[in-house]
Amino acid sequence: IKTIGVLTSGGDAPGMNAAIRAVVRKAIGNGVKVKGIKKGYQGLLYEEIVDMERKDVSDTIQKGGTILGTARCPEFKQEEVQIRAAEICRKHGIDGIIVIGGDGSYRGAQALARNGVNTIGIPGTIDLDIACTDYTIGFDTAVNTAMEAIDKVRDTSSSHERCSIIEVMGRNAGYIALWCGVANGAEDILIPEKYDFNEQNIINNIIYNRKKGKTHHIIVNAEGIGHSTSMARRIEAATGMETRATILGYMQRGGSPTCKDRFYASMMGAYATDILCEGKSNRVVGYKNGEFVDFDIEEALNMQKAISEYEYIVSKMLSQ
Ligand code: ADP
Repeated sequence: IKTIGVLTSGGDAPGMNAAIRAVVRKAIGNGVKVKGIKKGYQGLLYEEIVDMERKDVSDTIQKGGTILGTARCPEFKQEEVQIRAAEICRKHGIDGIIVIGGDGSYRGAQALARNGVNTIGIPGTIDLDIACTDYTIGFDTAVNTAMEAIDKVRDTSSSHERCSIIEVMGRNAGYIALWCGVANGAEDILIPEKYDFNEQNIINNIIYNRKKGKTHHIIVNAEGIGHSTSMARRIEAATGMETRATILGYMQRGGSPTCKDRFYASMMGAYATDILCEGKSNRVVGYKNGEFVDFDIEEALNMQKAISEYEYIVSKMLSQ
């Protein structure tokens, strides 16, 4: 391996820049050249490829988003497009690519590997919904951002004796909701993996808490359940308690990454570079049981991940 490329794909996540920086500097340290590919697979097809030196990643570790940009590129699912992408890599002398993104992005990496370009994936998503790893780049920053926002909503909820439904991101997974629900001491935590769509339970809980003298009721709702605004209307009608919905949205994806995100992203970037330089391909990096590890992409995509039953039960008990 003489030259590697690095790209970010799918949704952006805080900490991606720390991973890019680590790839660039570790590769150069290993005696390998690095090219940055802008805007994911789309930028690869448009040949938006730039040389990267150590200084090009200076002053980026503390920045949110991704300095390389990211884009969705639906046509990358087509075989002829994948073959063309591999040819473009060869034309630019790129023998290996590190892809920072989620499951969709690994499918693209797999396709490049099939066409002769060595690839390694790094888990970058705030949703924590990648099965082969206990940690994904961006999750820690996102939950801290959401936690701080929920604290603020809670203050005004208490003052006005309101019920607040706060919707957090996470796509179909409830990790952000579970973590914030516990960390914010929410009265109800709704996660798609466990939700029974029985609003009467929530209503009963609000009435019960009112009787106990609680001045507010915080419901952390997951994006995967959604419908927070209509839920608020129904809950207000049923309980008589003023109920507001706040959808936190994209603010959770932005901002300066936490120390944890910067550290793990740096280690994963370096680890991915090392295994790529060793000649490994079609692998994805993970963090499991306190160690950095790597899996075959197909094996990783077939793994299943679930919310811990223990964590869920504890979250319920602590919220009462
Ligand atoms: P994530 O990587 O966060 O899961 P997406 O699912 O949007 O995000 O995937 C990001 C990009 O990866 C897509 O825009 C597309 O270019 C590429 N991709 C997704 N699925 C496939 C696939 N089945 N084959 C090849 N490329 C894919």
